[in-house]
Amino acid sequence: MPIEMKDIISKKILNEAKGYLDIGYTHSLNPYSGCAFSCRYCYVREMPIQKFKDTPWGEWVEIKTNAAENYQNEVIKLRQKNKPIKIFMSSATDPYQPIERKAALTRRILEAMLETPPDLLQIQTRSPLITRDLDLILKLKKTCDVLVSMTIETDREDIKQIFSPYAPGIKLRLRALREIYESGIAAQASISPVLPFTPDFPKLLNGIVDRIWIDTLNIGDGSMGKRSMRLGMPELFAAYGLSDWYRGDIHARVEKYFKKSFPHAMINVSKNEAFPKP
Ligand code: SF4
Repeated sequence: MPIEMKDIISKKILNEAKGYLDIGYTHSLNPYSGCAFSCRYCYVREMPIQKFKDTPWGEWVEIKTNAAENYQNEVIKLRQKNKPIKIFMSSATDPYQPIERKAALTRRILEAMLETPPDLLQIQTRSPLITRDLDLILKLKKTCDVLVSMTIETDREDIKQIFSPYAPGIKLRLRALREIYESGIAAQASISPVLPFTPDFPKLLNGIVDRIWIDTLNIGDGSMGKRSMRLGMPELFAAYGLSDWYRGDIHARVEKYFKKSFPHAMINVSKNEAFPKP
């Protein structure tokens, strides 16, 4: 799939946390606009940033080339006002886009964070490319709370191919998560959104995470399921005979299942607070 790439200058990089992020984060940080991973369930498809674009979601990426400079300037101003800075990176893109290998934009933001650290940083990604930056994240961990959260919606590659064919493979993500965990950085598996998985999924996560986050298309799309409906998710699940996995209580069922294998404190279901100190 050809992807339109464009360098842009953005006015600001920290956006006040609203909606589902208003659970302990103060800001979201999106180094890119658009996303090459193009997940079929992605709620950003239903947000104004995509609604007013002619190019389909997944076929454009904008690189906010001044992101690191903006970060530093904005943090200095927030600090002057004694404001807390608890960042979720990223909410409307993946900070480890394939182009990040070359653009190193997220890496430059992490370097800027070493100079002017936030109070808390959660890095949310589904890309093993994050392991490139473990050196910086380990240094950052000495100055602020850091959690790396790897999205692993399922342990089934065939299911990933249906819902998220352009995203990195599950085995690669699991391997990256292990590396993150073993390096001593707080590591989370984000089963978000829950997709059909095998009974062995908990075993695969055992010993490679500090915590597990569970979220669903009905809760975590920022509109209590309406965006997922508009994206045709109930129909997509039905087309593959998977409707049982789209039930309104799936989060509770998955929570119960994972609590058989993990201490209860390790499992968090969407709507809970931002990550507690590991
Ligand atoms: S990786 Fe995240 S932002 Fe990108 S398409 Fe998938 S859900 Fe959307």
